[in-house]
Amino acid sequence: MRRKVSVWILVLVLFALSTAPVLAFVLPEGFAYVTDVIATAELEVRYYGDNNFIGRKIDGYEAPTAILTEEAAAALKIAADLLEEQGYYIKVFDAYRPQQAVDHFVNWAKDLADQQMKALFYPDVDKSRLFELGYIAEKSGHSRGSTVDLTLVEIATGKEVDMGSGFDFFGTISHHGTELITPEQEANRNILRDAMVAAGFAIYPEEWWHYTLKDEPYPDQYFDFPVDVEADSGRMAVMDEAVIRAIEQARKTMNEDLGGPFGAAVIDADGTVLCVASNTVLGDHDPTAHAEVNAIRLAGQIKGTYDLSGCTIYATGYPCPMCLSAIIWANITEVVYGCRPEDAEEIGFRDDFIYRFIEDGRKDAGVLSIAEYGRDQCLELFREYSELQKVIY
Ligand SMILES: [Zn+2]
Repeated sequence: MRRKVSVWILVLVLFALSTAPVLAFVLPEGFAYVTDVIATAELEVRYYGDNNFIGRKIDGYEAPTAILTEEAAAALKIAADLLEEQGYYIKVFDAYRPQQAVDHFVNWAKDLADQQMKALFYPDVDKSRLFELGYIAEKSGHSRGSTVDLTLVEIATGKEVDMGSGFDFFGTISHHGTELITPEQEANRNILRDAMVAAGFAIYPEEWWHYTLKDEPYPDQYFDFPVDVEADSGRMAVMDEAVIRAIEQARKTMNEDLGGPFGAAVIDADGTVLCVASNTVLGDHDPTAHAEVNAIRLAGQIKGTYDLSGCTIYATGYPCPMCLSAIIWANITEVVYGCRPEDAEEIGFRDDFIYRFIEDGRKDAGVLSIAEYGRDQCLELFREYSELQKVIY
């Protein structure tokens, strides 16, 4: 039993150390996800993976998604509609590109030793000349949010159309008007070009895949927010409800002098708020009646089980060691909290000494004296239990 307890405390401490706040990415005002505007758009975000001229994931790409200014996305929708009438979907390789990604390109270009992807992306270009030839630059129009790299996919076959050279191939074969490609390949490039130009985009003579909105909304601004996805909006709504109801409940019992400013909500596995509770230590003369413990007890009653697997608990303050332990005993594996431990300390609530006591091996008798006594008699009880073969929880 002793060994089991110390393992459990280790888990508790690790859990406490690893519970960091999750900062959800929010798309800046004025930008949109390409696939929200164009449902049929395919994405192959090359800089999120390693199939690109560097051969590694590029800085600032946190999700395989494509972001554009709302204006560029709306114009791209016009082009996509024109193309769909002709039997094509669009496939986007890159759209908005954060400055940190461009910086990654620049640093890579300076490292002449790294030529891992040369054969596929720049076999005929000396890497030392990438800057002077204009393939790599300190700034990219993509960072202004209204430039997109794309190709066509034939709806009938689901296959990418043959454009004569691949995305990000550094060479004259990628130029508009090159004589290095077949008439059919040139015709394919022109299908894409005509739709994009009709929708308000300008071509880039050196790259058949690259288009910039002529009337771009941020002609002088280079953005650096990451390419990322927003947290699931349904979940955010539930979390917001949990926050509001937990605070409301805490405020009520606080004003009735029943307990401190602590509320908690249990969110069920189906994503709804199962119950809320608050701290009632004073009202119930119960030092263990913390919001989280009360919420766990209530949730167990509602669900008719001690096992709250799949549930999430929201607490207005970072749970104390007792509550963290109770949460773990309840088989809850996710905690979301409002105020930090230092915020609670600011108003006079301190849990630090309990964490320190546990971390230091429960040796500080000034906090708690722990001694063994009556083991044989207790072992007898344990033996009886094990003979009954009851459920272990
Ligand atoms: Zn607590």
